[in-house]
Amino acid sequence: MVKQIQTDVVIIGGGVIGTLAARELSRYKLDVWLVEKDAEVGWGATKANSGIVHAGFHDKPGSEKAKYCVEGNALYPELCDELDVSFEQNGILMVARSPEEIPVLEQYRAQGQKNGVPGLRIVYQDELRELEPNLSASTTAALLAPTGGTVAPFELAAAAMENAVDNGVQLLAESPVEAIQREDDGFIVMTPNGNLKTRFIVNAAGLHSDTIARLFNDTSFTITPRKGEEYLFDKSIRVVNHTIFPVPNAVSKGILVIPTSEGNVMIGPTGDNVDARDDMTTTQDGFKRIFDSVHELVPSLSPSGIITQFAGVRAASDRGDFVIDYSPVSKQIVHLAGIESPGLTAAPAIALQCAALLKEAGLDLVPDPTFCGRRRPVVRFHRLPRTEQAALIEHNPSFGKIVCRCETVTEAEIVDAIQRGARTIDGVKFRVRAGAGRCQGGFCQPLVMQILSRELGIPLTAVTKRGGGSEQVLYQAKELVGRQTRENIIS
Ligand SMILES: Cc1cc2nc3c(=O)[nH]c(=O)nc-3n(C[C@H](O)[C@H](O)[C@H](O)COP(=O)(O)OP(=O)(O)OC[C@H]3O[C@@H](n4cnc5c(N)ncnc54)[C@H](O)[C@@H]3O)c2cc1C
Repeated sequence: MVKQIQTDVVIIGGGVIGTLAARELSRYKLDVWLVEKDAEVGWGATKANSGIVHAGFHDKPGSEKAKYCVEGNALYPELCDELDVSFEQNGILMVARSPEEIPVLEQYRAQGQKNGVPGLRIVYQDELRELEPNLSASTTAALLAPTGGTVAPFELAAAAMENAVDNGVQLLAESPVEAIQREDDGFIVMTPNGNLKTRFIVNAAGLHSDTIARLFNDTSFTITPRKGEEYLFDKSIRVVNHTIFPVPNAVSKGILVIPTSEGNVMIGPTGDNVDARDDMTTTQDGFKRIFDSVHELVPSLSPSGIITQFAGVRAASDRGDFVIDYSPVSKQIVHLAGIESPGLTAAPAIALQCAALLKEAGLDLVPDPTFCGRRRPVVRFHRLPRTEQAALIEHNPSFGKIVCRCETVTEAEIVDAIQRGARTIDGVKFRVRAGAGRCQGGFCQPLVMQILSRELGIPLTAVTKRGGGSEQVLYQAKELVGRQTRENIIS
């Protein structure tokens, strides 16, 4: 519980938008707090999306989406290098499934060029086959966008938060903002874990950003939840090199085939308006629509290769565009709201704009000479050559203990993730992929729990999957758990 503290900026919401805004503000001599309702950052739309860094040809010229998408895309290579986040600039192909769709590719090329997307060109039969041998024989041409990429979205949010905290930002997790009180010179942001008196508020609460706005009587926008289902294949299936889009229809970019930056293939998403903002269900109907559509692009993909599925919910605003602006109630409140797709791509550019808006509203941005934007590099044991692996084990024997067999994740990597901020089973899974492979944690989850318990100094009964209420063990049989762990960790 924090007492009431005084700060310059409170960011509400720790998705990719809030965490990158926090990191951007940590460049300056400011007191910044990020308040998040979940146990860790990045568990909203940020962890449940397609992970595509869009090129920027989909959105209408002049829209906020087009502007921030193209600007954000250009910032990705350097950002992911600084934060050591998995990112691949593998390119995007928007594919014509019949000769009649080729003129539509021309339209999107022209639109992308207006938006400032570099390198767009149309590729035809032979070149297309060479780029993507597994595409359906009925595909005739494609729009190639070489600046498109894929990123590990949760990794990005966690890395941005870690770097922001290293540069002085405070994180208040498991603290839903419940009320906001207006003061003469700012606001009091109220949470069950204490209140924060602040001069400026950044509203980055995703699906709940309109609810936050209502707390200070701002009704200037409304969020409609729109669900997207995604299906993930085992790593042994690698059928495409580029991210494959169909020609879009009137309401959506269509169903995609995505080679993720972590080495899986993923297909999806659907786009369905839903009543509940927490509707994360996957459905038989969604599965069928996705497979019917994907088979027109890559016929060899079979449902038997799927290892898991999930759904994310987009925060679509009634403006049909991002809401990146001051609240009409006060210039001391900046909305970063309605950030549906391509929000992940746009996030680094939105973070810059957030700082610019706060400056214009009177916040002094004095550079902090101690700021360091480079995160301590992460060891990804399975990607290293044998000689480097052996050297690591020599130096730290827990690199020799493989905890997650599917993804080859070592005990040392899990300990490092916890030292960087992981507090839960999901926090470990999304950071280092223990439990993200073929068996989905069937083998390693008890071992991860044991390591969390040991490193955090909490009983096994207090280890949660994703925060309070998701405890996995009711009664701790100490001897049994200890023996199982010792026997199962492979040295
Ligand atoms: C299925 C799907 C596919 C997508 N694919 C792509 C893609 O390929 N490329 C792309 O660019 N974009 C994509 N997007 C969009 C992208 O995921 C979002 O634009 C982005 O994640 C939005 O980030 P955010 O920080 O605004 O929201 P979120 O990640 O939802 O974060 C909001 C945070 O606010 C917190 N919060 C809410 N209420 C409160 C409160 N009262 N107090 C404290 N905290 C609170 C939440 O817990 C959450 O952590 C996709 C989205 C979906 C759903």
